[in-house]
Amino acid sequence: MIKKIDHIAIAVTDLDEEIKRYRDVLGLEFHGAEVVADQKVKVAFFSVGDVHIELTAPTEEDSPVGKFISKRGAGIHHIAYEVDDIGAQIKDFQAKDIKMIDSEPRIGAGNCKIVFAHPKSFSGVLVELKQK
Ligand code: ZN
Repeated sequence: MIKKIDHIAIAVTDLDEEIKRYRDVLGLEFHGAEVVADQKVKVAFFSVGDVHIELTAPTEEDSPVGKFISKRGAGIHHIAYEVDDIGAQIKDFQAKDIKMIDSEPRIGAGNCKIVFAHPKSFSGVLVELKQK
């Protein structure tokens, strides 16, 4: 079952510049940044209410986020929903003919289990499922 929106991820090219914008212009609470080696990105975390904003910048051009930016430019990259049982949610999506990018959970930022569903199944929006 989907519980809530966990985060909205935004692909950016200059992470330091965008951190300043989100922290100093929008005034969002900044929770630090970390490199997610598996995804070849550096991610900065903010919160607004109980929703997080993740600014994600590629550490290598040849990474999923790097390719996204070269194809579509910077902008909203994905929406992540928190689920209580990621395995059950994957099965539910597959039963409803949702195209999955991952069929098995992998480890994302903050040591959470994550999977991605294909944007083709959600009007061009990349959807992440996340279990804490
Ligand atoms: Zn995410």
